[in-house]
Amino acid sequence: MATIFTRIINGEIPALKVYEDADTLAFLDIAPASPGHTLVICKNEVATLTELSDAQLLATARTTQRVAAAIQQALQPDGINIMQNNGAAAGQTVFHYHVHIIPRWTDDGVMQFWEHKSLSQAEFTEIVAKISRAL
Ligand code: AMP
Repeated sequence: MATIFTRIINGEIPALKVYEDADTLAFLDIAPASPGHTLVICKNEVATLTELSDAQLLATARTTQRVAAAIQQALQPDGINIMQNNGAAAGQTVFHYHVHIIPRWTDDGVMQFWEHKSLSQAEFTEIVAKISRAL
C-alpha cells in the first residue's frame, strides 16, 4: 500500500508544498514542532536512510539545504534542527524517507533530544571495533 507521502506526491491528498523537483518534495509538517517545520521527502518510496541510492541521498540532501536556507531567510530563526528518524524505535511513523527541518528560536522549549549516557572505556572500544568492522 502506498505511504501517505506517496499519496501526497500523487496529489491524492493535499499538502502545503513549498518546493518540488523531479526527485524531491518539501511541504509543511501537519503537526509542526515549531512554525515552519518542513518535511523533505524522496519521491521514490524508500523507507530509510540506508536504503537510499546515492542519487536519492544527494537529491534529498540538496533540497534539505536549499529549503533550510529559504527558511532561514524567510523566518529568521535563531537555529535549525535537521532530524531524520529510521525505524519505529527511533520515532519513525511514516515509513517513507523524509528529513525534518525544524526552525528553532532561543528558549522555544521545543525539544531536548537526549540525556547523555556514560559508557566505560571497554564499551566504547567494543562499539568502535564493531562499527569499523562493518564498514
Ligand atoms: P516521523 O515520525 O519522523 O516518521 O515523521 C512523520 C511526520 O509526518 C510527523 O511529524 C507528522 O506530523 C507528519 N505527517 C504525517 N502525515 C502528514 C500529512 N498528511 N501532511 C504533512 N505532514 C504529515
